Amino acid sequence: MTQIKIILLSLLLYTNCSIAQTCGYDSIVGLINFKDYNSYAINDPGLIDFYIPVVFHVIYNSDNDNIHDSVILNQLDILNECFFFCEDTIRDQFKEIVACPRILFYLASSDPYGKSTSGITRNYTYRKSFNSSDSIYKFDTPKYKIYGGVDAWDTDRYLNIWVCNLESLNVNNSSLLGYAFPPTYAKNWDQNSFVAVERQGVVMSNKAIGSNNPFGNPQYSKTLVHEMGHYFGLKHIWGDKTSDCNDDDGIDDTPLSSNPSFSCSLSKNTCESGMEDLPDMIENAMDYAPSSCSGYFTKGQVQRITINLLNFRPKLYSAEPREATEIRFEIFPNPAQSVFFIYNNSLDIRNRKYEIFNSNGVLVYKTQSAERKVLIKIPSSNLSNGIYYVRVHSESKVEVKKVFINSAF
Ligand SMILES: [Zn+2]
Repeated sequence: MTQIKIILLSLLLYTNCSIAQTCGYDSIVGLINFKDYNSYAINDPGLIDFYIPVVFHVIYNSDNDNIHDSVILNQLDILNECFFFCEDTIRDQFKEIVACPRILFYLASSDPYGKSTSGITRNYTYRKSFNSSDSIYKFDTPKYKIYGGVDAWDTDRYLNIWVCNLESLNVNNSSLLGYAFPPTYAKNWDQNSFVAVERQGVVMSNKAIGSNNPFGNPQYSKTLVHEMGHYFGLKHIWGDKTSDCNDDDGIDDTPLSSNPSFSCSLSKNTCESGMEDLPDMIENAMDYAPSSCSGYFTKGQVQRITINLLNFRPKLYSAEPREATEIRFEIFPNPAQSVFFIYNNSLDIRNRKYEIFNSNGVLVYKTQSAERKVLIKIPSSNLSNGIYYVRVHSESKVEVKKVFINSAF
């Protein structure tokens, strides 16, 4: 089993062990036996938009495990940055090969029974951790109520993300950051990697959610991006074997790499890759580098994601938002002290703007470039106590809500 040095040793998240496995891939991959389960082709990967409803199942034993909504919303923003907005700040030599998956994730607004939901479920569990001496991959305990977990919502129609404690309870195990299984029949995966319908989804450590997590580490905040890559059928860029430049990930345009990256070292170049010997692509989401330099996909990877989504997860996405596009926004905390947050889960992502007016109708604040985010932080320490009106604009609609500022409470 591959084990990885924890990225920030000074952070005592994983007490008494200085190593942690970032991803449960090695236990999932099973026998290494490449077979062509499919050979689909698609032109112009990344030109279709996909909208995918998400449910986060927070499973907690302690208050610290019951992570705040704002941490989950921050994680959703990071996911969309990597899968939908895709800033192009990568090194010049990789600019030609990167592509954007064009997948927008949003919190589901109705549950499988048609009831209104926030897209976040919260359930107490008797388990202190789900990473016990039992094989987590064998029983997949977070996904079953009978094991102290939470049963999936219809995995054909929702992306289920279970968020729980994955710290090791066994000295021989290492703490896990997350794991995911590929779609059944995805190309280049052994059939031992395929699991039942109710196990499709992603399991995440609650310490690896969000870059604003008080119990986490910002350098883990793209772990979910990596696990989503597995969920869509991508392998690690170094393939299944380390120290072997002939073992590849089955994607033509990812530069060859023989082992995982644990730092943002731009000079790392473990394998010669063709005419132009590109360095290892540490920026690739399917490497293990810290989140500060990670989160990119190549054209070949986006093509594989698209093919797998179209063929193996066909009910999961819609080409247009499946749900109403009214502005769905909330303000918290309210009353607020020196800062508050606007949560905007509207699917209309064009021309978003936020303005704050005082009770005399005077504009006291407006945001710049917040249109991509569902979680917007508003500093309010400059505002005197009183009632304010927050006006949220999108392409065609405007909505207003009140917020109370009280620096004294
Ligand atoms: Zn992995």
